[in-house]
Amino acid sequence: MSNEELIKMSNEELWQAVLAQVQLNLSPANFATWFKSTEITSQKEGRVIISAPNSFVKEWLENKYGKNIFKILHSLDEQIKEVNFEIGKAGLKIFKRTAVSLPEAGQLEFQELEIDRQTNLNPRYTFENFIVGPSNELAQAATFASAKNPGQVYNPLFIYGGVGLGKTHLLQAAGNEVIKNFSQKKVKYLPAEKFTSEVVTAIRSREIENFKSKCQKVDVLILDDVQFLAGKEKTQEEFFHTFNALYEKNKQIILSSDRPPKAIPALAERLRSRFEGGMIADIGCPDYETRIAILKAKCLERKTDFSEEILGYIAANIQRNIRELEGALNHLVAYQKLNNYPPDLETTKTLLRNLILAPSKVVSAKKIIQAVAEFYDLKEKEILSSSRKKEIVKPRQIAMYLLREELKSSFPFIGRRFGGKDHTTAIHSYGKVVKELEKSDQLGEELTLIKQRVFSG
Ligand code: ADP
Ligand code: MG
Repeated sequence: MSNEELIKMSNEELWQAVLAQVQLNLSPANFATWFKSTEITSQKEGRVIISAPNSFVKEWLENKYGKNIFKILHSLDEQIKEVNFEIGKAGLKIFKRTAVSLPEAGQLEFQELEIDRQTNLNPRYTFENFIVGPSNELAQAATFASAKNPGQVYNPLFIYGGVGLGKTHLLQAAGNEVIKNFSQKKVKYLPAEKFTSEVVTAIRSREIENFKSKCQKVDVLILDDVQFLAGKEKTQEEFFHTFNALYEKNKQIILSSDRPPKAIPALAERLRSRFEGGMIADIGCPDYETRIAILKAKCLERKTDFSEEILGYIAANIQRNIRELEGALNHLVAYQKLNNYPPDLETTKTLLRNLILAPSKVVSAKKIIQAVAEFYDLKEKEILSSSRKKEIVKPRQIAMYLLREELKSSFPFIGRRFGGKDHTTAIHSYGKVVKELEKSDQLGEELTLIKQRVFSG
């Protein structure tokens, strides 16, 4: 592009060109979160000003994407020498992010402390012992911001991601952080299943009004694993009222789920839209470096240490579930305690054989079909049936696609596996999903989550 043309490029066109490139490297959730409501407000004498909706986003853009944005701008127009960020008219909340680093040796005593009866919080979950990496930094920053300014920054805050990736840790850390900073604030942490059973009990004992008013007295309500509300209409209704009551009073609501709101089956539309009305952040699988950092932090907590070689072996072999990473470490700690010396690599391999090569780790057609069925709230039988219902056809096609992609199954095998269907059906399904993936980010996200289940559970 010549400079002449670029001079004519409006702020909006220029920003669109940048966004088109930025988008390539970001998950849809990340992209929407950080780049929604941003714009170029001026370009003069080689200086471009980008406006962000609030200081949190501004800081994040500056620190995290600033360099990249500059590079893209500069590649579009060599004249651009500087990029500045400012807060737009929309919001002016002040928020300073403090870096969360590894705990220092001896600082943390590993112990299972009592869970607080009032809040249901376990003090062992904190931001200090939560390791931040590319897979979870968005979720961590958003949760931290919400804990620092309850009800002010993002409401509701919705965190989603696969099993054992740190959702509960973050949610509880938020609760603990609020209590640390605002001792007078009432925090309540509830797994959605517990919320459900409390609603049921309250209805039975005719105490629902009582229950409601109790829920509505809190300043911060944390509901973990909201996918369990799927299909529970009465509970959803109660939660909807609680949600609205708290929301209207600017009370912070933090939610977690194993999938984004739009992928939760049998969730009342009005709840879904509430969940989508705030900030949505995903947690992915940690990369190798983050896994190592987590292992090292857990070693410190346990006042122990293992060689780089051993930690490297664990991190290389357990990739998709942090709970399992910890489990592996606990194995080695137990061995060390019993023997008074740490295991060498060979012993480590033997000790962890069950964890790393457990039969459940071997992906099978059955496992994929089960995971897909579970994800879409269907029975395995339904997936394998010949039903033409839309809500069954799509999951069936996805299961067929995964069999092909993950197991390299032949199309005739796939057809047979799905209740004796023809191989052309399998080919058609596979093609359908491939095409759909090109068009829809949501499907890609759902597939990632399903795969996490297949590989981690
Ligand atoms: P989830 O709720 O997503 O299934 P959890 O929050 O229960 O996962 O995390 C599983 C285990 O891994 C917990 O013991 C938690 O402390 C630990 N964990 C997860 N993410 C991190 C992290 N980033 N840093 C340190 N520990 C982590
Ligand atoms: Mg959890």
